[in-house]
Amino acid sequence: MKAVTLQGPGKVEVREVPDPAILKPTDAILRVTAAGICGSDLHYYSGRIDAGTGWVIGHEYTGIVEEVGSQVTQFKPGDRVVGVISPVCGTCYYCRNQQSAQCSRKEPFGFGGDPGCQADYLRVAYADVTLEKIPDSLSFEQAIFVGDIFSTGFHAAHEGGIKVGDVVAAIGAGPVGLFAQVSAQLFGPAVVLAIDSVPERLALAEKMGAIPVNMAQEDALARVQKHTEGRGADVVLEAVGLPGSINDAFRYVRPGGVISSVGVYAETEFAFPMNDAFGRSLTFKIGVCPARNYMKPLLSLIEQGRVDPTLVITHQLPLAEAARAYDIFASHKDGCIKVLLKP
Ligand SMILES: [Zn+2]
Ligand SMILES: [Zn+2]
Repeated sequence: MKAVTLQGPGKVEVREVPDPAILKPTDAILRVTAAGICGSDLHYYSGRIDAGTGWVIGHEYTGIVEEVGSQVTQFKPGDRVVGVISPVCGTCYYCRNQQSAQCSRKEPFGFGGDPGCQADYLRVAYADVTLEKIPDSLSFEQAIFVGDIFSTGFHAAHEGGIKVGDVVAAIGAGPVGLFAQVSAQLFGPAVVLAIDSVPERLALAEKMGAIPVNMAQEDALARVQKHTEGRGADVVLEAVGLPGSINDAFRYVRPGGVISSVGVYAETEFAFPMNDAFGRSLTFKIGVCPARNYMKPLLSLIEQGRVDPTLVITHQLPLAEAARAYDIFASHKDGCIKVLLKP
């Protein structure tokens, strides 16, 4: 089959690789119908995280079940499915306690180990737990993001503990940031401020119900203060994962407020402002999203027309054009916000 392989910083190539096979009775093989390029793929593409070369990338996917192992009971060939970022077992301590991102038997793919989903076919471990059927009324494009970026954005908003009437500052209006903003609105805040510097992203944030704040053109802190009588935001959602954006989160939040961070922070350390956090009684939450918890409810929201996740898709390209897709996604060329590859 054909698959997108990482070949060094700034370089992906579509190459011929072996077809996946059922390795365990709980596996399923999917024929991939859509594969997203995620901001976390860019950490490998840019070389910020080094996991070697030659491996198949990708972890956002929908597909049609092609084959199932003997112990798979919930799916059969022909089913349309979407799946969690990394397959999870469903039975360990963490899976049983709604913390599936910490699954002790997790079998991630697309991060340098097992082959990822930007390919014609994908092996999915623990298929009964990892996959969710896509409702008949939804397209692959409508469903794909519940496995990762919509769930991650929702998780940021959920962990922020947003209350009715809150002022929410959302740092980053990339795909995860946009979903964090959309999700925040579900909790009834007075306003969600979308803070970014890319005009196309801010325009989309506005279309999706947030108030755009272009930090390249205005003082975002002053804007946050203007909406809060000078206090600062009740909740800050951070969806970038760079030292500057986390520092900004501490600047924007009010005393007693909450910072909820889901940006992938690749460095091992960050100079945490201990004294400031103590003095202002701040809450700082961070972590990988347990997407398994959110897939079903979010599919329901999409089905009922509450959220249109396809608004973030600016480009859909054949798998063969992966190199161009990565280039435009990484450099925001051509108004690119989110790319789907179509095997
Ligand atoms: Zn991702
Ligand atoms: Zn588990």
